[in-house]
Amino acid sequence: MKIDLTEDVCLVTGGANGIGRATVQALAENGAKVGIVDLDGEAGEAAAKEMRASGADCHAIQGDVSDPKQIEHVVSKFVDRWERVTVLVNNAGINTGSDRAPLHEFTLENWNRILEVDLTGVFVCSRAVVPIMLKAGGGRIVNISSIAGLVPLRLQSAYVAAKAGVANLTRSMAIELGSKGILVNAVAPGSTLTRGTEKLFYGKDGFQSEKAANMLSHIPLGRPGKTEEIANAVLFLVSPDASYVNGVVLPVDGGWIAGYHRDF
Ligand code: NAD
Repeated sequence: MKIDLTEDVCLVTGGANGIGRATVQALAENGAKVGIVDLDGEAGEAAAKEMRASGADCHAIQGDVSDPKQIEHVVSKFVDRWERVTVLVNNAGINTGSDRAPLHEFTLENWNRILEVDLTGVFVCSRAVVPIMLKAGGGRIVNISSIAGLVPLRLQSAYVAAKAGVANLTRSMAIELGSKGILVNAVAPGSTLTRGTEKLFYGKDGFQSEKAANMLSHIPLGRPGKTEEIANAVLFLVSPDASYVNGVVLPVDGGWIAGYHRDF
């Protein structure tokens, strides 16, 4: 997909790795200036450096999306550099990793941290950027939810609650901000091939690799998504062609939640 983003300044949270990194690349390849906000400062800088090597105007600042003070500071630094923010991609997110647990064994510590990053982080970053977009007369926000926020999975209480929160927060932001020129949508990825899911399922030594085939049997396309396939959906939602799309939560999941992919 080729679009003209040469007038855009995009901030991508969690842009150092995985889906965020692919999104940074897609935005940069289409001419946008891209700011990476990531907890892992070193990985953020490495990603930005790689983008600059292929001619992009891309910079990274270390920051924790759940910390309002840090995020206000990071956003003001990017505004100092580029004077505006036209696109925010709220992508940073965590899950339990291999630490899956039933509700009654789920630790409060895990619950709090996942909610803080995955849901509060979307609120904190949006709250910091929306005034800048309002002053400029508009913008685009894309939140990364998950199919687990639309159809819950077991043993991941905090993640499914946080991602459902992101889906509904997206809709409420869309109805608040649409009339002010800010379009807000979400992408809900299905299982996507990243270093994290490789460690968990898809790699040879994946912690739960024995479950990978079973999981894939639920996906009509029979494979995990590629990070670029998620990034392409984000790209569409920030493109001029999506000018009448507002409040949508778009599953990009190979058809996983379209229905039961099995015979009865
Ligand atoms: P990833 O772990 O590969 O990358 C996440 C990035 O976010 C990392 O660079 C990490 O350092 C950063 N990060 C983590 N906590 C942060 C914080 N507090 N502040 C700032 N940055 C922080 O993850 P991914 O798989 O690419 O996932 C990206 C998003 O997509 C997440 O919101 C995730 O929930 C969602 N998602 C992923 C999948 C999947 O299968 N990979 C499926 C559905 C949804």
